[in-house]
Amino acid sequence: MRPWIASTWQRVQQDLSSPRIPHAWCLTGTWGLGLALLTEQLVARLLCADVQEGRACGDCQSCRFLAQGAHPDRLRLTAEGAAGRIRIDAVREAIELAYSTSTLGQGRVIEVSPADALNPESSNALLKVVEEPPSGTRFVFSTALPGALLPTLRSRLRQIAMAPASLEMIQAEGQRLGLTEAQLMRGTWLLDEPFAGIEDPDRYQDADSVMLTLQEIATGLDPQIGANRCKALDPLTVLTVMMRVVEACIQVQVEPQRSVLRLGPIPFAAPFPEPTGLFQLLDRIQAQRLPTARGIAHMALPGYGSLFAVWSHLWTKGRVR
Ligand SMILES: [Zn+2]
Repeated sequence: MRPWIASTWQRVQQDLSSPRIPHAWCLTGTWGLGLALLTEQLVARLLCADVQEGRACGDCQSCRFLAQGAHPDRLRLTAEGAAGRIRIDAVREAIELAYSTSTLGQGRVIEVSPADALNPESSNALLKVVEEPPSGTRFVFSTALPGALLPTLRSRLRQIAMAPASLEMIQAEGQRLGLTEAQLMRGTWLLDEPFAGIEDPDRYQDADSVMLTLQEIATGLDPQIGANRCKALDPLTVLTVMMRVVEACIQVQVEPQRSVLRLGPIPFAAPFPEPTGLFQLLDRIQAQRLPTARGIAHMALPGYGSLFAVWSHLWTKGRVR
């Protein structure tokens, strides 16, 4: 386990062995640096029938169901549809599951990830069951943007912030994998995956050129020229890099103290576009990115032209003065 994940996991462990074990967790951190892994690990630990040294055994019936992605007592609420939001009917379904009997006898876990994809209506629907869940039901929320959660919901969750990964830790991990520091930064940060591109180094180059194009558009390049430049690249890479850059421009304003900008030098400088406009753009990026991530052909989608046009508009017209 990477050192910064290990130290965060230790805090989770302390909570799990305390007399008042939380029933609603909120893990916060950076996706590319292990937030998904940490979330998975906690969900598995909560459902495992044979916990070994504080971790899921990986071998019981529950662990095997989880590995197959078919656990009857685990439900995952995630961003869906054109808006990239968690649907209210999916939330209602989750609440129904919360009150049903657990199939394998280890209780139920409802995972909400990314939790910032909840809209106010869905958040409100969850409030009561999160506050007083039926016995055996646990919630695991995870988000890179805890500031985007409804405060009334957030206050009901046990928040655990991922320990920050120091540059030295990331470098050591990179050395172990034979990567340069720059490659590692881009892999974890821009592509939103831990150590992405190890098997496919072209993705690093593609990520770089998308980043460069976004930077040029922000300083005046015609968005259509930018879109044409990216046409030949892997759509998931283009949309992921764009998502990460927009997220970073939001985070640096909403939560400057926890800014992901610390993790890698990104060539954007204040004044940034207003968060409201950036959030709307993020929704539009997600609407294209989610089907792409699920392998649905990109042909039917409107393409990058309109996204890049919005990005260009935000930098010329929508900046915070
Ligand atoms: Zn197990």
